[in-house]
Amino acid sequence: MTSEELKQFKASISITAVAKALGKEVVRGKCKCFFPNRHVHGDRTPSVSISEERGTFRCWVCDDVRGDVIELVKLERNCSFMDAVAWLQNEYGFLAPKENLRDRVDGSKRLVPQNFEEVFRRKEQTKEELVPEEERKKIILNFLKKLSPVDDTAAVSYLAKRRIYKPVWDKMLLRVIKDYDGLNRCLKEEYSLDVLKYVGLFNDKGNLRYYKHPLIFPYLDSKNRAFYFQARAIDSSVVPKELNLTGLVPYPYNVSLLNEKHGWVYLCEGVIDTLTFVGRNIPAIGIPGVRSFKMEWLPLFKNKNVVLCLDKDEAGYRATEYLKGVFEQAGIQCITLGAGLENLSSSIKDGQDINDWFGGRK
Ligand SMILES: [Zn+2]
Repeated sequence: MTSEELKQFKASISITAVAKALGKEVVRGKCKCFFPNRHVHGDRTPSVSISEERGTFRCWVCDDVRGDVIELVKLERNCSFMDAVAWLQNEYGFLAPKENLRDRVDGSKRLVPQNFEEVFRRKEQTKEELVPEEERKKIILNFLKKLSPVDDTAAVSYLAKRRIYKPVWDKMLLRVIKDYDGLNRCLKEEYSLDVLKYVGLFNDKGNLRYYKHPLIFPYLDSKNRAFYFQARAIDSSVVPKELNLTGLVPYPYNVSLLNEKHGWVYLCEGVIDTLTFVGRNIPAIGIPGVRSFKMEWLPLFKNKNVVLCLDKDEAGYRATEYLKGVFEQAGIQCITLGAGLENLSSSIKDGQDINDWFGGRK
C-alpha cells in the first residue's frame, strides 16, 4: 500500500468497530486501558477515549497509550506495524463495518442524524486548526480559480477517449494545471509553505502535489463552489492514477443532486463513471473509491432511492453488498444496476465498469 492508500484504508475503518473486534468493550466512546494494572481498581471506570471522527484513541493516564487504528491493533495484539496492517486488511478487506451505524460517537441509536449540518460542524470544531476552516476553503477556491479550462489541453483527448465531452466538462467545471511551475511559484508567493501543506495542496518537499496529476475534478456543491477536488493523471503510466486532496472528503461527487427531493440517484465509483452518466443526463453521484462511503453522508440521501453502479469486480461486488446493507438499515431503498438482467447480452460484464460499458477506452 502507498501511504495515500494506507490513509484511505485507515479513514474508512471504524476504530470503534476495530476495538470491539479486538474484544474491547466500548461504551459511549470509552474503553478500559490496555494496561489495567497501571490504573486504580484495574481501570474499572474506563480511561481510554476513542474518537470515531479522528480515528484515534488515547488513555488519559498512560502517556504511551494513544494513536490511530493501527496503533490500537499493535497494542492489543502486541505485534508489529506490518502485522497490524495485515490483520486489518484481513479483517476489513471491505471496510467500515455495520456497527458504525448502530453505535455512533455520541452514543445515539439514530441511524441518520436529523441535521447533517450539525455533523459537519462538529467535525470542524474537533480538528486541530492551523488555518480556520473558512480560510482553508478560500485557499482551495483561490487555487481552483487559478486553473485553466479543459479546452485545448491534453485532457481533451483523455476525456474524449472516455466519451466525456465539452458540455460535461463545462458543466462540472473541470480544470487543468497548464503551467505547473508557474502555479507552484505563484502559490508559494501568496501563502506560507506551512499553510499550503496544511490545506493539503503541497507535499512535504514543499511543492504542489499535482505534478503528474494535472486534470482537476472539483467537487461542486449546490452553489457551484468547490472546497474539495480530485486530481487525475492523464498519462496512463502514472500510479496512482488519482490523488485526492488530503483530509476528509466532505461529500460525494456531484452532491447537488442530493437535494432532498424524491427521486433516484445512481451511485458510482469514481469521477469518470459519474461523468459518463452525467453526459447522458442520468442523475449520478460518485464516491471516490469503493471503500470510501462515509456513514455521515447517509442523511444527504434523504428522499432518494439509490441504484448501486459499482464496478463488476471482486471489490465492487463486496462494496455493493456492504452498501446495500448500509442503505437498507437507514431506510433508503436501494437496488443494484443490472440486477436480474445478468443474462442479457447487453448487460455489464464481469470486470467492466460503467465507462467501459458505455464504450469508453482506457
Ligand atoms: Zn492507561
